[in-house]
Amino acid sequence: MATVAFIGLGNMGAPMAANLVRGGHDVSVFDLVPEAVNALTALGAKASGSAEQACSGAEFVISMLPAGKHVESLYLDQGLLDSAPASAILVDTSTIDADTARKLSAAAVEKGKSMVDAPVSGGVAGAAAGTLSFMCGAANPEVFEKVKPLLLDMGENVFLAGGPGAGQVAKACNNMLLSISMIGTSEALNLGAKNGLDPAVLSDIMLASSGKNWVLEVYNPCPGLMANAPASRDYEPGFMSELMLKDLELAMAAASGSETVTPLGGLAYSLYNRHVSGGMGKKDFSSIFQAIESLQSEG
Ligand code: NAD
Repeated sequence: MATVAFIGLGNMGAPMAANLVRGGHDVSVFDLVPEAVNALTALGAKASGSAEQACSGAEFVISMLPAGKHVESLYLDQGLLDSAPASAILVDTSTIDADTARKLSAAAVEKGKSMVDAPVSGGVAGAAAGTLSFMCGAANPEVFEKVKPLLLDMGENVFLAGGPGAGQVAKACNNMLLSISMIGTSEALNLGAKNGLDPAVLSDIMLASSGKNWVLEVYNPCPGLMANAPASRDYEPGFMSELMLKDLELAMAAASGSETVTPLGGLAYSLYNRHVSGGMGKKDFSSIFQAIESLQSEG
């Protein structure tokens, strides 16, 4: 069992840290919100008054923060890269831009330390159930192998995508594809409905045909077709549209940084940007179905 510092106990971090406690690890936790720390100590974690205090004696430091600026601030501005034990492996599971992940990994290497980027897929439900997928970027495969057993206490699938930042690139690619398949599935269901088809029947047909995809299988965006899908509870998330927009921004940054053309990714970014600007940011990302339905023909 390992000694772990866990920083950032929000929607994702809290259930992930709880799974480490359940797995028998010695977990010290810190969040800027004291109530979040208290909720974890009630489950058996140790409370810390600062990130630095949580890291004292830690073999692994795990962070789960909102965005790149928070992660950079924690490790560089607040000096956690310096104050973490020399032998500790630092694992950032937040979804951030690949450039920041690479910068932090390089800064860690300069100080003789190791940092792994390990963003996740699976959402809050996957975090609670311990079924997350981790996609990792590490300067050294041996460091990845040391981190893997710990990540398997919070997830089911742990991949080494490549060197520093590769985990973040994999996450951006996956979520860009997810947004495109959500929009495409919405578009097909809307086209069928506007031509007199029952969306339930059309969904069954496409599920047994070459249009089959994850959205149709478990996340149908048309209300009333799938009892457990956000579409059937007024698009309560789930995965908020504003988080999908954030991930598409990261994908667009990766595209422009590598001079890669992503025509459908760019279109998905524009549609989600308009959707979020129109006040749908807190609704589940499958609510893009309603935006597609309300698009008017110009012809
Ligand atoms: P959240 O806003 O619920 O939680 C972030 C937590 O970090 C908050 O509790 C906040 O107080 C804390 N925090 C911020 N700065 C801190 C600091 N300097 N020190 C200590 N604590 C600090 O966000 P979330 O939904 O848990 O998402 C976290 C990350 O996971 C994001 O990068 C998000 O894109 C990614 N993600 C989220 C989901 C999802 O469905 N929510 C799914 C996959 C990935």
